[in-house]
Amino acid sequence: MSIKISSSTHAVSEADRAAKVANPGFGKYYTDHMVVAEWTEENGWAQAELTAYAPISLDPAAMVFHYGQEIFEGMKAYRQPDGGISLFRPEANAARFARSAERIALPVMPTELFLETVFALVREDANWVPGKVGESLYIRPFMFATEVGLGVRPSNRAQYMLIATPAGAYFNPANAVTVWISTEYVRAAQGGTGEAKCGGNYAASLVAQRAAAKEGCDQVVWIDAKERKWVEEMGGMNLYFVKGSGAHATVMTPKLTGTLLPGITRDSILSVAADLGYKVEETMISIDDWRDGVESGLITEIFACGTAAVVSPVGSAKSVMGTWVTGDGTPGPITNQIRETLLGIQHGTISDTHNWMKKVL
Ligand SMILES: *Cc1c(COP(=O)(O)O)cnc(C)c1O
Repeated sequence: MSIKISSSTHAVSEADRAAKVANPGFGKYYTDHMVVAEWTEENGWAQAELTAYAPISLDPAAMVFHYGQEIFEGMKAYRQPDGGISLFRPEANAARFARSAERIALPVMPTELFLETVFALVREDANWVPGKVGESLYIRPFMFATEVGLGVRPSNRAQYMLIATPAGAYFNPANAVTVWISTEYVRAAQGGTGEAKCGGNYAASLVAQRAAAKEGCDQVVWIDAKERKWVEEMGGMNLYFVKGSGAHATVMTPKLTGTLLPGITRDSILSVAADLGYKVEETMISIDDWRDGVESGLITEIFACGTAAVVSPVGSAKSVMGTWVTGDGTPGPITNQIRETLLGIQHGTISDTHNWMKKVL
């Protein structure tokens, strides 16, 4: 099934686009096009169409507005040294999108169709991909329930859409993120939707994020729902802890227990850290391990990871139990090394031994 190209005009002037790409921020500007594909229970997926980026019209009784049946993905395209463009692990996003769809009772989009839409949009809007290290085109696939009706059941219609926004380099080496460990709110419980990338998880997290801000923290850290002691995630990112230092350091991340979102960056760092010669562990990490580890100096670095920011150092952790500081508030050497290695692979300056990069142009 190929994509129907209904628009190849560029609404934004060349000068305007160049100014936006030179200073992209994040999620501020959107490229000239989007992809839309409709699914119905009777006919399955209709042909996907690439059209001019524009507002959409939906019936007010479309199910997504009432029961929140929605999923999304986040992935990036990077400029390469030869001026070309490559995507980072797009098949992993396709696979996760399919798993999220199953959990939220939305239709599964075949991997080939998902990839085709992403490649088509990046190709069409290639001149929106910024070029500096750390910059990228952030790609947002999403899908929502469009059946009209207020009955509660899986929708028999769905709409898939794909949009893209140029993304600047987030990383501010002077500033480690400060976190508020929430003992009041829960992100995910066993049997819930923690493993699915769905908007509902974020809707439920906003009040905790606001509580974190009130405590003077940048982000919220989630602990498990049952025992209220195991570290799970930070906001919309996974977490890593470095035990020890130098060549004998161990790089650890909370184990996927069914309530964590399985990050593609998290998974990639397991390989990158092992390639760099570190011992790597997926394990249970408690808030006591965190406090005792940073107090004794056993835990030397903490960082969060995800597609948007890639790697962000974590400094102070605050909670009702007190405040614990990691290191001196600046990114540690292993955090920096992992970040630079991953970015090097993404930008094509470090050898892609895992065959993660998929060339678009
Ligand atoms: C998307 C997401 C992540 C990070 O996943 P990546 O694939 O690395 O971008 C982590 N936690 C949550 C809750 C997320 O939604």
